[in-house]
Amino acid sequence: MLIDKRHGDHHFINVKWGYILLFISLIYYAFLIYLNIRNFNRLYSKSSMKHVPLIIHGIIWSIILIATFISLLHEFNWGAFLKRFGRFSYVLVTLDILLVIRPNFINYIYLITTHKWISRLILFLGSIHSVGFLVRWVLQGVFLTKFFKWENSLGFAIFLAFSILAVFSLKPFRRINYVLFYLIHNVTLILFIGLIDFHARPGVDYLTIINVICLIFQIMSKFNVNKAVVHDLKTFGDLTVLSFEMPENFPLTLPGSHLRLSVMNWSNYFLPSHPFTFIQRSSSNNDVSPTSANASMSENEDTKGTLDLVINNRHRFKPSLSPYLVSYPYNSKLSLKSYDQVLLVVGGSGVGYAISILNYYRQFPEFDLTKIKTIWVTRNKKDLGILDYFRLGDDWDIYVTNSPNYTTSQEGEESRADEVEMELLTNEDNVRPFKDGRPLLTSYQGDLLICCGPETLIDECGKLAKDRSISFVHEFYGF
Ligand SMILES: Cc1cc2nc3c(=O)[nH]c(=O)nc-3n(C[C@H](O)[C@H](O)[C@H](O)COP(=O)(O)OP(=O)(O)OC[C@H]3O[C@@H](n4cnc5c(N)ncnc54)[C@H](O)[C@@H]3O)c2cc1C
Repeated sequence: MLIDKRHGDHHFINVKWGYILLFISLIYYAFLIYLNIRNFNRLYSKSSMKHVPLIIHGIIWSIILIATFISLLHEFNWGAFLKRFGRFSYVLVTLDILLVIRPNFINYIYLITTHKWISRLILFLGSIHSVGFLVRWVLQGVFLTKFFKWENSLGFAIFLAFSILAVFSLKPFRRINYVLFYLIHNVTLILFIGLIDFHARPGVDYLTIINVICLIFQIMSKFNVNKAVVHDLKTFGDLTVLSFEMPENFPLTLPGSHLRLSVMNWSNYFLPSHPFTFIQRSSSNNDVSPTSANASMSENEDTKGTLDLVINNRHRFKPSLSPYLVSYPYNSKLSLKSYDQVLLVVGGSGVGYAISILNYYRQFPEFDLTKIKTIWVTRNKKDLGILDYFRLGDDWDIYVTNSPNYTTSQEGEESRADEVEMELLTNEDNVRPFKDGRPLLTSYQGDLLICCGPETLIDECGKLAKDRSISFVHEFYGF
């Protein structure tokens, strides 16, 4: 008489394929890092998906998943099929953490888009696993017995956490309350890594160990911070400039690099730190004005060097003179040297991004700063005082959008053309001449377009760059 083993041959069939997928995902990770390092001196883009179009990543992952499921066709079994989805979603956590681990081989920010898509894939695979089993138990008439088995309840708890995370990670929710999204994201990750170790049959101990190690490294980055003392805080309209003394041995970074800031407070170890572009003023280039590259520093100026942040004070995060914890620097890859005419379009606090670029290139006498045309669009004319603070050149084109002379009904192309023709208005505070309304971007030229600001501005710039087939770099101040 033949006696079947309890789970038959199918029970362990997924274990091997879990490790195969882990291996493939690590190769994929190495490939992404290689691409980003290779692109170091090429055009910078925040999204690593930009270098290899999203569709290609989608095709790569479809092929990988189909290939790793094919072995099941040989002797198909529903249980093994559904379990494979669950195991694969757990395996991919390693890749997902590696993508955003800090410090990384490259700036983590280039891999954030990939991280988001792999996270979606994990939620998708995990949900098919859960829903599939729930339906199967109903069809088999064993729902209650199976559902209340404690290992299965753990799996259901994760499914619930996945569903909540899926909702709160939607863009509108992330925008409304980033902190809530961040907390749900992290709690779900910890629950997933921990509970699945008890839920999965056959066990996933080795995978759990790998994921826990990755998680510990990720948590350690929270403690890899330095105390930084603010030595100056100045407010201009909606913008505040927060200045720190530059720590010793702070490396010279490419423009557009950022640091991460949090108020010194125990609770901040549980909350997200805030990324801000910094303007690096070394002792030898404390005068940031591109038009005064040869100006020597006055004697009473700070000689230690400064890191300045330009912060939008309409955000919930309010800059103050209190001590901060700072982790840095997260280097950008921005390089303008191979372009003839650079169009730099910034909106609101994105002006800090423009200043960091101009400040960086003024250090190189061979670099012709006049090839950079800067356009700044901002809401509040009081913001303009920041230009005097940084002693910036008069060659900027400045647009103020909340002036009484400008209404949203004027946003059509024709009216914008009129606005460009408008005479310069000088505000009563006598800060800087500016134009009223929004710029007509098509009236500007360049072979590289850089944009940092709100999504609408970035979209408009992206469209222009596409129409003209010119290089486009953008920085969006959010994830
Ligand atoms: C690379 C980078 C550089 C940035 N540089 C600057 C800068 O120079 N000046 C400036 O004013 N702002 C900058 N920002 C945006 C700034 O970090 C956030 O606006 C700030 O953290 C908002 O905090 P809050 O508590 O006020 O958020 P909220 O008022 O709750 O949210 C405001 C917006 O910021 C986003 N956000 C909130 N917290 C974070 C976070 N920890 N990480 C990413 N996005 C977040 C939210 O999605 C939301 O859209 C930058 C963002 C990034 C990603």
